[in-house]
Amino acid sequence: MRKINLFIGGEYRSPSTERYFQVINPATKDIVAEVAEANEQDVELAVQNALHAFTNTEWAHDRQLRFDVLNRLSSLLRANLDELTELESVITGRPIREMKAQLLRLPEWYEYFASVLKTMENSSPPFSGSYVNYTQRLPLGVVGLITPWNHPLLILTKKLAPALAGGNAVVIKPSENAPVTPSILGDLAKQAGVPNGILNIVQGFGTVAGKALSTHPALEKIDVTGGTETGRHIASAAGFNLAKVAAELGGKASVLILPDANMEEAVNGSAFAAFIATGQTCVQGSRIFVHESQYEVFVEKLVEKTKSLTIGDPSSLETDIGPVISERQYRRILDYIQIGIEEGATVACGGEPFEGNGFFIQPTIFTNVRNDMRVAQEEIFGPVTCIIKYTSIEELVKQANGTDMGLAMSVWSNNIRLAHQVVNQLEAGIVWINDHHRIDPSSPWGGFKSSGIGLENSIQCFNDYTKLRNVIVNISTEPFDWFDGSQQVKRYS
Ligand code: NAD
Repeated sequence: MRKINLFIGGEYRSPSTERYFQVINPATKDIVAEVAEANEQDVELAVQNALHAFTNTEWAHDRQLRFDVLNRLSSLLRANLDELTELESVITGRPIREMKAQLLRLPEWYEYFASVLKTMENSSPPFSGSYVNYTQRLPLGVVGLITPWNHPLLILTKKLAPALAGGNAVVIKPSENAPVTPSILGDLAKQAGVPNGILNIVQGFGTVAGKALSTHPALEKIDVTGGTETGRHIASAAGFNLAKVAAELGGKASVLILPDANMEEAVNGSAFAAFIATGQTCVQGSRIFVHESQYEVFVEKLVEKTKSLTIGDPSSLETDIGPVISERQYRRILDYIQIGIEEGATVACGGEPFEGNGFFIQPTIFTNVRNDMRVAQEEIFGPVTCIIKYTSIEELVKQANGTDMGLAMSVWSNNIRLAHQVVNQLEAGIVWINDHHRIDPSSPWGGFKSSGIGLENSIQCFNDYTKLRNVIVNISTEPFDWFDGSQQVKRYS
């Protein structure tokens, strides 16, 4: 069993309360780690260390230092990927094959944002009169990063890489369900040359450590990924403190199978969208829309495919579906299955727990679903999906947009015109055509509507981790005295 401490000021420390909470393996319910539980005092210490390091080290001023450090961090991650992958699979229950595919890509984020930093240019906007005018892009200061359990390292990396590239100091509050792999980043960052105090990690619970961090008045920005209600709390606190905020929140992604779609591709794509990460992703394809002409065949094929998935030990390369993260989620998902049945939906497959000691639930497909049912509207965050029939493209678009969420959707079609006509009407921040859940550090990721504000990835995200200063230089040698008694109107252009 591992003992995990807080990481503050460049060293691992026990929490002020000496309290530790347990993290379990959701596949076996074995305790795998005891983790320091930060309280307000620990968060205060972390923020003070971050402020001190931001003001007293070269970090904020030295772009070459940051470029080198980010590239070293990327290499260190590559060298440690096997250990991190295994550990993350044990902590989250996510099948090892998926975990490998995900973590292999982590270094790209550090390399991408190092390159953005290295190639960033300031602008010189036009300015009337005898002036030289230019902008400077500056670090914000101390930023708070609050992350969820479902992709512990990937989501942290999506925030950490641009935050460090931008020259900020960070305080990280990882999820209480999966705080183990993020804590290792403290050590790797130190080895890579991140100055002490620039990166701090405070594990603990949302309502204590998370709240203390997100309400801290010294923070210049808070960046959270989590549920929509969590996002509302954090964004309210940021609003009060006049801090910047980015919030990547819940989803209820639609998969739109257009009438011309290739059936095999659509079935395989829908199974992937619905059940990758055991359905525990913000972009899970939880609403699959199928034209009435294809409905029967599609349902039959997706059910057949789903029944062929291997449920079980996440450490086996053969496993497709692991456990869900916790007892709380396990009960919540089973409750939602019951709600779906009571609402009149039909369980086409699954619907039950799966044998074993851990939190296993069979991948579940609901048919006979109406768009207004709770299972079609609320984020379940588990291996449960709904198939909904449509009769016209107009009705399809209306139903796909008919939720409060607007994170992601996928459109499946070989008709290039129709696919784009549909995309142009969708209310979602990320849309894939003939794919689902693809991501790249250079490509913006953020939700519309109640799925969030701000975004991750891309140059825009780097810019959001900086602030602009405008420098206006008068180069005229003409004397100027507004109060010369001439009564002339000056400075009008
Ligand atoms: P969560 O909202 O329970 O917790 C997220 C983080 O916020 C945790 O670190 C938690 O401790 C902290 N937190 C909770 N309440 C807080 C409060 N009042 N103040 C400050 N911090 C608080 O979410 P979760 O269960 O860890 O993750 C699942 C959710 O995350 C889902 O809704 C999912 O859709 C969403 N998510 C979104 C994206 C995206 O890119 N949009 C990606 C992954 C997950």
